[in-house]
Amino acid sequence: MKRQDERYRFWERGGFAVDASVKLGGDERAFETVPDPALCVVFLQQHIGAPNVPVVEPGDEVMEGQKLGDSSEPMGVPVHAPVAGRILKIDMAHHPVKEAPGEAVFIERAESSRSPERLPGFSLDQLDQAAPEALVQAVREAGVVGLGGAAFPAHVKLAFREKATHLIVNAKESDPNVACDVRLKKERPDEIVAGIRAMMRMLEPQETIFATRAEAGAFPELEAQLRAWGIRIAHIRSSYSVGSDKLLVKELLGKEVPCGAYPPDVGAVVHNVFTAFAVARALFHGEPLVARGMTLVARKTGPRNLWVKVGTPVDDVLRHVGVDPSDVQRLTLASLMMGGAIPHAQVPVVKATAGISVFGPEERSPYERERACIRCGYCNMVCPVRIYPVLIMEAMKRGRTANLTKLHAEDCIDCGLCSYVCPSSIKLTRYLREAMVAVRSG
Ligand code: SF4
Ligand code: SF4
Repeated sequence: MKRQDERYRFWERGGFAVDASVKLGGDERAFETVPDPALCVVFLQQHIGAPNVPVVEPGDEVMEGQKLGDSSEPMGVPVHAPVAGRILKIDMAHHPVKEAPGEAVFIERAESSRSPERLPGFSLDQLDQAAPEALVQAVREAGVVGLGGAAFPAHVKLAFREKATHLIVNAKESDPNVACDVRLKKERPDEIVAGIRAMMRMLEPQETIFATRAEAGAFPELEAQLRAWGIRIAHIRSSYSVGSDKLLVKELLGKEVPCGAYPPDVGAVVHNVFTAFAVARALFHGEPLVARGMTLVARKTGPRNLWVKVGTPVDDVLRHVGVDPSDVQRLTLASLMMGGAIPHAQVPVVKATAGISVFGPEERSPYERERACIRCGYCNMVCPVRIYPVLIMEAMKRGRTANLTKLHAEDCIDCGLCSYVCPSSIKLTRYLREAMVAVRSG
């Protein structure tokens, strides 16, 4: 009987109740730093928006922090060199988010006596004197994107000063396999609060809310600082995927984001807690975004929270934690629920990589071979935005794209729950992503 499967233990109508125990103790593991890779593969586009063009050439020597690619478009976000070294080539590689080839800069690391390149910084003590527009521009120049997984350009959301009545800092971290947000709250409270204060300066909201998972426990140091700056702390029920922007806005403000609209359209700007941290590092330390925290989960190692340079091949990360890549059957990047499988361990981590899930040959993976739909309706029941994934899948299979708007395919928040609960292992999320592209391209 399928409902006895572990995957269904926490299932509820319109979501999936994830409690702290599912995190497997990952929130107890302190961050470790993965050494810089010998070969760094940095994709020129690591955000939703305009593609970058390279500003370096093969043969160039680069410093850590030097810009590698940029765009003049409003939705462009630059990428920077995570290590010092020499550009070997600019070539195509498997992009883990696009699940297709993407253009990347290959850097052969070299020891350098020069300090990493830094951006002009701001003083936290004089934040009130900094012009909001200058702060927004500095966030862009540092290459900061949304680090909750979507990789939306952070500067674009921070420029919604006219619309923003509420700033919501999302520290809910509802994905079962990811615990790096919790660790960040324990280890880096000063920088989180500095980043939120900078965001408040840029947006000037009426209220700032720090959303955290009820079961994640207390963070006394962080909470004391948040309260001191007038930031409300909201404890949210542990349901996946209430961490998604639109559902969080509904949960906290009682406002429904209309079909085709975005949270700023109802006055809310939502940023992930890791983004707030990256904003603080960029503005007050001049650091471009070249590394991030993530959680790796493997049966052999348990959960491990890691600082990893962007562009590090997964192979290097596996070896650091003591997993032999030849023992791995499947790998997924980003979160367990939303992430995609990667074809091999040479694929590098990107700014959006919040986690790595490692499956051995003996383990069940959510990416099994598909079987026929048995019309159980689980996917419809679990969908948090109450659309009908099975009908959208069928419309896509039959080429009935004219039906997609009526089925509200564009309301999908890409949470991955429908694929996760499907007893036939149908990759519904893939059909939903294709459907959203079909709707947007008319
Ligand atoms: S991925 Fe989309 S369709 Fe599937 S459950 Fe989530 S919101 Fe619903
Ligand atoms: S797609 Fe999967 S979950 Fe949805 S009705 Fe068919 S078998 Fe059930």
